[in-house]
Amino acid sequence: MLVVMEGSATKEQIEAVVKSIEDMGLRAHPMPGAQRTAIGITGNKQMVKDAMLSAQPGVLEIIHVTQPFKLVSREFHPEDSHIKVGDVVFGGAFVPVMAGPCSVESEDQCMVVAERVKAAGASMFRGGAFKPRTSPYDFQGLGEDGLKILKKVREKYDLPIVTEAVDPETLTLIESYADMIQIGARNMQNYSLLRRAGKSSLPVLLKRGMSATLTELLMAAEYILAEGNPNVVLCERGIRSFADHTRNTLDLSAIPYVHRTSHLPIVSDPSHGTGRRDKVDALSRASVAVGADGLIIEVHNEPEKALSDGAQSLIPDQFDNLMNTVKSIAGVINRRM
Ligand code: PEP
Ligand code: MN
Repeated sequence: MLVVMEGSATKEQIEAVVKSIEDMGLRAHPMPGAQRTAIGITGNKQMVKDAMLSAQPGVLEIIHVTQPFKLVSREFHPEDSHIKVGDVVFGGAFVPVMAGPCSVESEDQCMVVAERVKAAGASMFRGGAFKPRTSPYDFQGLGEDGLKILKKVREKYDLPIVTEAVDPETLTLIESYADMIQIGARNMQNYSLLRRAGKSSLPVLLKRGMSATLTELLMAAEYILAEGNPNVVLCERGIRSFADHTRNTLDLSAIPYVHRTSHLPIVSDPSHGTGRRDKVDALSRASVAVGADGLIIEVHNEPEKALSDGAQSLIPDQFDNLMNTVKSIAGVINRRM
């Protein structure tokens, strides 16, 4: 970290900042320049609390040389993390696909979809039992009954389950039914929920908030790791932009950025990332091509009757095609599907 002093800063002001740094148990390295003095700080194992430094007279700005996150950073953990969900591994050469409906609507619906996605090669089943909806009048999910259906899917088709927790109470319930906890875009900065997920023994699928920067996404993951749960898979699911030909703009550049900055795997969600069924196939191929460590795809047997996200849900035949085409893309970059 670097404290940049104003050009007009006095010798006393510079000395006062140096003393504050030393009082924190750190080393200060004043570097006088032609225009102004900068003071380098070393010896910090964690983020330096910069608020008291930036408030001192004569300080122009504080520059963070290293990233504000630690446990999730590549610097801290140079090797790729491999996150296991049952026998499924995220972050290795194999690229797992999670597929299923947006919402768990009925046992029949889930069984029909599970049979097809399993046959097509999906590694995990997705489906929301607790749905964070924009309107309070929209379908909110079947709750615990939905979790019971998901458990039956797991037993019948041997597919690990990922499902969304919307608060600490639902997270506790999900722990006794599912294999992976999803934290949705709307809750990416729900810090009490993140802390609770950090105390769980289940892996977490953390989706990027629709207006979150990648630093904010990684800071959210840091909350989970800081509580002791290292098993986090990140998810790019599209961000808000001015575009109106899609529901969200899938930010594919997030994937190589996260790979450079963090050791955590990152999967792509072209369903929410586009919001349009006809674009899911192409964006799935693109996601695999840029190195996504997995895909999460919404599939529904009767999308026109879906209680949520029907417009972006593939029918099982379309999912079959998707699986076939993404496989060849994976091969080009030495990965397998
Ligand atoms: C979902 O996966 O169905 C969902 C609600 O996703 P997001 O949080 O990305 O909107
Ligand atoms: Mn959805």
